[in-house]
Amino acid sequence: MSAIPFVDLGAMHAELRDELDEVWARAVDTSGFIGGAAVADFESAWAAACGRRHAIGVANGTDALELVLRAAGVGPGDEVIVPTNTFVATAEAVAAVGATPCFVDVDPDTLLVTADHVAAAVNERTAAVMAVHLYGQMVDMGPLVDLAERHGLLVVEDAAQAHLAERDGRVAGSSGLAAGFSFYPGKNLGAFGDGGAVVTDDDELAATIRSIADHGRVASTKYLHDHAGRNSRLDALQAAVLGCKLTKLAEWNERRRQAARWYAEALAELAVEPISRNAGTDVHHLYVVRTAPRDALLDHLSAAGIGAGIHYPVPCHQQPAFATGVGPGLPVAEAAAGEILSLPMHPAMTEERVARVADAIADFFAHHHGR
Ligand SMILES: *Cc1c(COP(=O)(O)O)cnc(C)c1O
Repeated sequence: MSAIPFVDLGAMHAELRDELDEVWARAVDTSGFIGGAAVADFESAWAAACGRRHAIGVANGTDALELVLRAAGVGPGDEVIVPTNTFVATAEAVAAVGATPCFVDVDPDTLLVTADHVAAAVNERTAAVMAVHLYGQMVDMGPLVDLAERHGLLVVEDAAQAHLAERDGRVAGSSGLAAGFSFYPGKNLGAFGDGGAVVTDDDELAATIRSIADHGRVASTKYLHDHAGRNSRLDALQAAVLGCKLTKLAEWNERRRQAARWYAEALAELAVEPISRNAGTDVHHLYVVRTAPRDALLDHLSAAGIGAGIHYPVPCHQQPAFATGVGPGLPVAEAAAGEILSLPMHPAMTEERVARVADAIADFFAHHHGR
C-alpha cells in the first residue's frame, strides 16, 4: 500500500502548475526580484483577507513577530507572556528584542492560552502577550483583549498556524495590535521558501516595521536612513507565488475541515482524543490527537508508512535555550507533550486515506498495544 505523507505540497502545487510556471517565467522575463508590484499586490490581498489596513511582507514568521515587538517599543526590562505550548519561534521573537518571555500554561482541551492564564501571570513588568493560534485553532480573543486593555498590555497574535481561521466572527490576525504570519512552505499558505507578514491597522506601527525591515530607510528615499534597521523583506518571487496560492487558500482550508470531520468520525471509537473541536472555523494546520501510548503508536504508524509528528515534544519552558530551572512547572503542557500526536493533514487527504490512518490506529490498539 502506498505511504500516506504527513503533508503533500506536490499535490497542492500540481493544482496550480500553469499559474506557478507563469510566476517563474515572469520573474525571468522582468528580473524584478525585490519589491515592486508583486509584493505590493500580495500585501494588499493579504491585508484584505485578514480584514486589516496594512500587511507588510517580511522574510519569515519569526521576524514578523520580532518586528512587531521592536516597533512597538518592547525591549530589555519588559516581560512578554508566551504560552509554553508553541513553536519555539514565539519565544525567540521575544528574546530577540531583549525582553523576557514569561511562559504560561494552556487550556487542557484546546492546548491554547486563555485570558485566565494571562491574568495569573501579569505583573508590573508585563508589556505584551503573545496570543498563539496553534494547530489552526484560534485563541478566545474577546476576554484576552479586554484583560489586556485593563492592564495596558499589547496583544500580538502569532497566527503562523492559522491563516484565515475564525472565531466569533473574527479572522485570525484581526483582534490584537498586530499579528505575525509565517509563509514557511508547510504552513496553510506557504511560499517556495521562507516568507512572512505582519498585519495591523496601526499606520505608524506599519510604517515603522516597513522601514526597519528595509534598512531603516526613510519612506520613498533610496539612501536616507533615519535609524539602524536590517534586511527582512519578502522576495518578489515569493510574493508572486503566495498571491497565486492565495486564490486556493479558502478551498484548501475547507478540504482540511472535511478531512477533520472524516477523522473525528473514524476515530470516535478509538482511544485517541482529537484536540480541535471547532470543525467549522478552525483551519486544521495540524490534526492533533492525544493518547497515552503516544510513542508506541507513532512507531506503529511510521512502520505502516503513515507520516506523523509531535508538535511539540518539549514545551518552551523546558527547552535548554529558555529553561530557567525554577518555578512550579506548567503541568497541563508538560502532560500534553507526552501524549500529543499529529496525524497526516493537508488538502489532499481523501476519505480513503483518513480511513487507512484510522485502520492503522485501530490495528495498533487491537494487536500491538499492551502486548
Ligand atoms: C512557523 C511558526 C513560526 C515561525 O515562522 P517562520 O516563518 O518559520 O520563522 C512562529 N510561530 C509559530 C506558532 C509557528 O508555527
